[in-house]
Amino acid sequence: MKRIAILGSSGSIGKQAIDLASKMKEEVYVEVLAVGSNLKVLKAQIKKFNPSAVSIANDLDAIELKKWCISNKIKTNVYSGQSGLEKLATMPKVDTVLAAIVGSVGLKSIIAAIKAKKNVALANKESLVMAGDYIIKLAEKNGVSVLPVDSEHSAIFQCCVGEKKSQIRKIILTASGGPFYKYAGDFSKITVEQALAHPTWKMGKKITIDSATLMNKGLEAIEASILFGVPIDKVEIVIHPQSIVHSMVEYIDGSIIAQLSTPDMRLPIQYALTYPERFKSNIKFLNLVEVGRLEFYKPDFNKFPCLKLAYLAAEKGGSLPTVMNASNEIAVKSFLDKEIKFTDIAKIVDKTMKAHKISKNIFFENFFESDSWARVYARNLIEKEFKL
Ligand code: MG
Repeated sequence: MKRIAILGSSGSIGKQAIDLASKMKEEVYVEVLAVGSNLKVLKAQIKKFNPSAVSIANDLDAIELKKWCISNKIKTNVYSGQSGLEKLATMPKVDTVLAAIVGSVGLKSIIAAIKAKKNVALANKESLVMAGDYIIKLAEKNGVSVLPVDSEHSAIFQCCVGEKKSQIRKIILTASGGPFYKYAGDFSKITVEQALAHPTWKMGKKITIDSATLMNKGLEAIEASILFGVPIDKVEIVIHPQSIVHSMVEYIDGSIIAQLSTPDMRLPIQYALTYPERFKSNIKFLNLVEVGRLEFYKPDFNKFPCLKLAYLAAEKGGSLPTVMNASNEIAVKSFLDKEIKFTDIAKIVDKTMKAHKISKNIFFENFFESDSWARVYARNLIEKEFKL
């Protein structure tokens, strides 16, 4: 039985993990839960799992939740803020922390969890882009695993079991292509509603927009390069609209190993929580005859400039990936708030990256410094040049 902490339990990944945990009572025990602001969902989850502790971002919400626990005779401890997250991530009873908080907010709790010798099931790709080398080295030093929850990275991980990293020739990262890979219209006129309509995956808003600009794939390429220790030019992206092959690894002898399944996030989440074991799952099993054909295309880096930016950030390294990630978060939020055009997202990220002086010595504090610098710079750019 694995005792898990779910950080981000009201989000898309968190809810699917909760769904899994309720079906795998013998294998997985939900020890603690954290949400950003969704009190309603958290209360329902407390009633269902009776966790020993929970955390919520805002102090006032925590006070309300404490009162609610008392009046319902619930013994769950309630924490709040960044310190609350870190408290949960380091609880002695917890074996594995599912890090499913979106954005750079999740980073400190991931670091705390690794230092406390917890395995981390990582759904937060921004943390690896920001501080990937640091996280990987820290995990090695503490003898814990960083298990990818992203479908592509789970696939690559599965294709690497029993293999030698030194014998990898390249990683082939598949992308559904998002809603616009065939789009022939004017990209600057793409609306929030169009961008939120993803063809295969149902996900949170931030990642859905990132999938439409293909920045998500750029972030994933960086993530793959860090997690599997291969240089970024050995990570190749191919568009695969069916989302059946979740990624592949090519070895030096010319063999390509792939992982296939119906697209269902519960599978990679389950594998990260139960690795090295496999358990029966409730997903729809793949019928290849029904699928009929699997197609692969080359992505267009000119149509999707975010891909270029991501490869550039990874090549230059240092603080640049952090800056790219932070300015992208700001630009995506601004697009969702209908302040800027779809095509402005890449322009804002590009301008912020160009204005940044790359710092090569990376200490833990630098990530946050570069992160805040980029946020302020991107926000100012929006106000001055881009706001509609
Ligand atoms: Mg993915």
